[in-house]
Amino acid sequence: MEGDTLREECGVFGVYGHEDAAALTALGLHALQHRGQEAAGIVSYDGSRFNAERRMGLVGDHFSSEKMINRLAGNAAIGHNRYSTTGETMLRNVQPLFADLWGGGFAIGHNGNLTNALTLRDQLVRDGAIFQSTSDTETILQLVARSAKPRIVERLVDALTQVEGAYGLVCLTPKKLIGARDPQGIRPLVMGDLNGCPVLASETCALDIIGAHFVREIEPGEIVVCTEDGVESHKPFPPQPCRPCVFEHIYFARPDSIVGGKSVYAVRKEFGAQLAAESHEDADVVIPVPDSGVPSALGYAEKAGLPFELGLIRNHYVGRTFIEPTQQIRQLGVKLKHNPNRAMVEGKRVVLVDDSVVRGTTSIKIVQMIRDAGAREVHLRIASPPITHSDFYGIDTPDQSKLLAHRFDLEGMRSYIGVDSLAFLTVEGLYKALGYEARDDEHPQLTDHCFTGDYPTPLTDRDGDRAGAQLSLLAEIA
Ligand code: AMP
Repeated sequence: MEGDTLREECGVFGVYGHEDAAALTALGLHALQHRGQEAAGIVSYDGSRFNAERRMGLVGDHFSSEKMINRLAGNAAIGHNRYSTTGETMLRNVQPLFADLWGGGFAIGHNGNLTNALTLRDQLVRDGAIFQSTSDTETILQLVARSAKPRIVERLVDALTQVEGAYGLVCLTPKKLIGARDPQGIRPLVMGDLNGCPVLASETCALDIIGAHFVREIEPGEIVVCTEDGVESHKPFPPQPCRPCVFEHIYFARPDSIVGGKSVYAVRKEFGAQLAAESHEDADVVIPVPDSGVPSALGYAEKAGLPFELGLIRNHYVGRTFIEPTQQIRQLGVKLKHNPNRAMVEGKRVVLVDDSVVRGTTSIKIVQMIRDAGAREVHLRIASPPITHSDFYGIDTPDQSKLLAHRFDLEGMRSYIGVDSLAFLTVEGLYKALGYEARDDEHPQLTDHCFTGDYPTPLTDRDGDRAGAQLSLLAEIA
């Protein structure tokens, strides 16, 4: 581990009551591949037993064969895409996790991150719990296992009452598919319907791929239970202000998904338009950093009345750069991934648009490429505010000391990246683009701590007395 806490941004999927449950889950995970490319897993229930398959790598590489799907028999299944975070990845961390609990088997897939998992884990280990993975999801599983409540949904509620942080969960028991979303709705979870069969997914694009229709978002703090008798909704937690994570709109979600009732693509275009309104520079051409910067660059170009050109071509056979676990590979990844399209760049004053700057690695490489391809001027525009604070809810931003916007002020970042001018979308512009009049500083409408430092939950593991001890415990395990 790189000295950070355990973090995961992932995709989850589940379907109940369909004879092709595993194949549908594989397709759903394929549509959610952008949320995690390091590993994937599916657990199905066939009426008498659970079947589990977990693999490192892409969904299509492992879950597309008939042989594999046949091994995952049953009419209910859940699946999970895992996103590489810090440190090494182990097959035993690949989800869905499964355990034989008192009362029956229980499988769980988790998108998000808990902020008190290490603190809870420390106590559980002291009480004799034996952990098999280093994942915070196993903390939920252990809490469910230990709950004294009689019914599985009550036991899950019991467990979730003790955790802090962000989650979109799918769980499978012999009789139930269960979905749960954290009380502030930080991480997304949606419900669909495929010919009467309920479907759960992190994003609507996973419903589209199987032809399911979108029913609704799971509400913050809601638990939905799908059984033979239909879908039940429970709201067992005290209501909290809803604060979905704005990073889904900025970077994580696929542009064809609907998040919070809004098209991700349209919102990203609006981010670009706001950015142009706030910080337009005279230039000849607007060029996106593909693919993440494309919708914002389109919005920027439209608003600024400038031509939009693909001045950088992306090789689609390389994974998302950020996802590679070491800095060297990340840098190599950036080189492997983009190539300038000289004909669109040479002699031009270029406005380069990307969705976000984290460490600055991508920006430095891309700007150098554009300059090497003969650009006369390079003006970098970022369609989100400067990321000054680390994330603890599953977005996997690094330690604060590595964040470019924490290390430098605007002028410092400009000269470090080596551009003629640099501007970020303002926090006000971000809220405006999302349709809010303004950010309500008393009751912020979104989880936006990356830009504001305003964390929606306590950071118990980070700030607690036992933080050091817990981390060393995990380092030994890893
Ligand atoms: P960096 O190179 O460290 O500045 O990262 C910024 C680049 O990574 C941008 O091009 C983004 O599209 C992408 N990015 C931003 N946030 C994330 C994230 N949480 N995970 C993976 N990639 C990201």
